[in-house]
Amino acid sequence: MSIVVDPVAGTAHHAASPPGVDARTDADARWLARAVELATANVSEGGGPFGAVVVADGVEVAVGQNRVTRDLDPTAHAEVQAIRAACRATGTFALDGMTLYTSCEPCPLCLAACLWARLDRVVFSADRQDAARGGFDDSAFYELFARDRATWDRTRVVARRVPGSTDPFDAWLAHTARTAY
Ligand SMILES: [Zn+2]
Repeated sequence: MSIVVDPVAGTAHHAASPPGVDARTDADARWLARAVELATANVSEGGGPFGAVVVADGVEVAVGQNRVTRDLDPTAHAEVQAIRAACRATGTFALDGMTLYTSCEPCPLCLAACLWARLDRVVFSADRQDAARGGFDDSAFYELFARDRATWDRTRVVARRVPGSTDPFDAWLAHTARTAY
């Protein structure tokens, strides 16, 4: 598995491609336009300005739009919604071979969701600075993750060992019929 997070505006593809047409980048641009369209439409529908599309072999598998305020779900980001819908549509919990296109750089939650989903590629258009301008915490959270947790002042993360802490893993490893993921 290789995750490539590459804004389509980046020059890597162009630099590595012969002059003229870069078929994959053209497809990337079209799918990104779809994600941006979903994001913009979502605003007038009462959601946040984010949209995403999961694509396999050039075919749309599922879309997602931000539903945080509508669904009272702080995890209902567009990418998460698209991943959930794609897994339902394909009857699997791993999206190997698929690409997620998103209107904006994934926040840490969504980027981790993309890793858990085993997506091949994640391609975004606007970035965390654009999101910050819109009043969203994507960039702030990335900066927070880079800091010592002891300095976090909003949500405190506390580690404390109690008896039986590792029992769930022992149970997991002893369960021979487990479904690994
Ligand atoms: Zn997110």
